[in-house]
Amino acid sequence: MQNATPVRKSTLLASLDWLEHAFLPAGMAPPEETACGHQRHTSTVIMSEEAFPRKQCEADGVIATDSRPVAVYTADCLPVLIADTRRHHVAAVHAGLKGALAGVLPQAVNRLFDLGATPESLFVAIGPAIAPCCYELGQDMLSTITTNPRVTAPQWSATQPVNPHAVRLQAQATSKGIWFDLPALGRQMLLDMKIPAAQIDVLPVCTYCNAEPQSSYRRNSHFSDGYALRYSWIQRRA
Ligand SMILES: [Zn+2]
Repeated sequence: MQNATPVRKSTLLASLDWLEHAFLPAGMAPPEETACGHQRHTSTVIMSEEAFPRKQCEADGVIATDSRPVAVYTADCLPVLIADTRRHHVAAVHAGLKGALAGVLPQAVNRLFDLGATPESLFVAIGPAIAPCCYELGQDMLSTITTNPRVTAPQWSATQPVNPHAVRLQAQATSKGIWFDLPALGRQMLLDMKIPAAQIDVLPVCTYCNAEPQSSYRRNSHFSDGYALRYSWIQRRA
């Protein structure tokens, strides 16, 4: 028997009374009127009007200046929800390793700056994603990462970190690779945009070893036990 699948929230974003948000479990649909891009691991960020009906435009970030919910769908990539307390704008960003290296997070933050945000007015939550306990990369990938000018403080370890909160087996090492911290990369890119550390929340949930079942694309590629998209959405209250 599985427990009821959890809808997760960031305590940081939940402290803002003008918005609603959720990191939905695998397979649960977002609100009907949600805007969402057709995600391609790019740095493209669009406005909600262009992203509704859902997936009609290719984009990996969506901004709303009104009360339409915006969402991203992820498996192991970072779902990043952003709130601007100055203008009450919100954004949802899909940042896997490829999209992060392409600059999707600074792109989204710069668009919010253009719309009136300041670093001090932004509150950000990074939702469940693959954590260093389960994210093995080859050495060749590590050099691609560390030579990217947007990567200023990469975090990784040569040995697999143990996740004491794992509810199923962590990913098994398959090569002489490294264990990369993707959530830390997202956080570093936000810090580099001068967003205060206290305004960046990283949920400590690994999609591979301790989120609900069917959360992880990578786990499914190892065990074929299925996966379903996880939607993360944010909305200014009407
Ligand atoms: Zn893990």
